[in-house]
Amino acid sequence: MQRVPEPHPTCQRCGRPLKNPHSVELGLGPTCARKIYAERQVTMDLSTYVSKKAAV
Ligand SMILES: [Zn+2]
Repeated sequence: MQRVPEPHPTCQRCGRPLKNPHSVELGLGPTCARKIYAERQVTMDLSTYVSKKAAV
């Protein structure tokens, strides 16, 4: 029988130890998850801006 490697309980972004089970599941601390979410919104806003610009 092989042992299944456990997921690393550290943030994949900043490497800080994760205590929250939900954060461990995400692989991200709450702060980094928020940052990544904010970055995604910026990317979405940019793509909207680019598509609008292209349509004109
Ligand atoms: Zn982090």
